[in-house]
Amino acid sequence: MNFFAAFYVLRNKAKKGGRALTSIGTYDLKKENMQRRIDEIDSLFTGASDHLLYLYGFIPGGLKCHICNSVHLDLHEGNRTATCLLCGKVSFLTAQTFFHGVRRPLDWVRAIFLLEDGVSFSANMFSELTGMASSSVSEILSKLWIVLSSHMEGCSVERSSSFLPSVSKRSLQTPTAKHPMAEQDVFDEIESENMAESLDTFIRRKLEEIYQNSNSTESFSADSNKNGASWLAEKSVYNLLSAEPKSFESIGSASGLSVGDLSLTLLHLELAGLAKSLPGNTFVQLRPFWTDITISAQSREKSKKSPFKPFFEFVSRTFHGISRKYLQLYLAAFWCHTSRRRWAVGTLFTACLRSKQLTRRDRLAYVSPPVVAYYLPAEKRCY
Ligand SMILES: [Zn+2]
Repeated sequence: MNFFAAFYVLRNKAKKGGRALTSIGTYDLKKENMQRRIDEIDSLFTGASDHLLYLYGFIPGGLKCHICNSVHLDLHEGNRTATCLLCGKVSFLTAQTFFHGVRRPLDWVRAIFLLEDGVSFSANMFSELTGMASSSVSEILSKLWIVLSSHMEGCSVERSSSFLPSVSKRSLQTPTAKHPMAEQDVFDEIESENMAESLDTFIRRKLEEIYQNSNSTESFSADSNKNGASWLAEKSVYNLLSAEPKSFESIGSASGLSVGDLSLTLLHLELAGLAKSLPGNTFVQLRPFWTDITISAQSREKSKKSPFKPFFEFVSRTFHGISRKYLQLYLAAFWCHTSRRRWAVGTLFTACLRSKQLTRRDRLAYVSPPVVAYYLPAEKRCY
């Protein structure tokens, strides 16, 4: 079967469908309109196997055999598995992707299409229209928002406390018998003073993730035993880096590490998104966006009229209040909703298939950082 031909036919149909919706207008989309759009999306596909085929089109580099990377595959009924025509092995095609273990691709495709249309909806609204359990919709939405939020590095940042007016839902983090705003107390402490310490925590957590994820590879397994101790090397090298590129040699002499240790340390920092290597064997420091406390927070607090009003309105219109824990994800949802050029047709599908697999635990453990990234249509800073 010609997989790419099938994908492009679907994709062109989808693009036409996307243009049709813009005329409805993205703000205050009524339930009937959303129902109509869902019907339109459904009509693009003839069955579950079609939805999968569409998703595969966004896999970076295209669909390949998991064993030998051959692109010559014989897809089976339902398109979940394929036999490789070269090595003869059977691949489970969504394995290890963002869509690993997804039972009904239809629901995901519907949700992603709607978000790419600029439609925003609560889990309740989607579940009313589709008959899905609202908890399943929550899971889908929060995972998609996590993907969106992972693209917010170029966005403006602000202390999360500036968004408190929108917080009115309870989460697991809310102290017992307190108003949801009380969650902020914990973060206020971090925000006011101990940014240096929270940067430590951030680096340590990122590095531990890397150690855990790379247990299988040889170069790391030796290191993973000394988890607690070795991140100190990363931290001191991280502090030696800056926005100006520095040569491997100069970092080496300043840190006192051997060539081997320094290479490994820099590799860890790169994997953690804390450093970047540039041509000429030079390195620059990358700052995790939320540690950048040198922001306009003070001046913002002084201004009576919150610049985040569009976000507050979006929240009360669509979600009727949110929890502090997921604030960053709602900000990501707002970004997707308002930045129509950035999140146009096909972009969220692409981002999902480039994203790592997200587990239920990733979703539940999510907590918005003390400094959050946001997008305001007037500022247009995200790229
Ligand atoms: Zn193969």
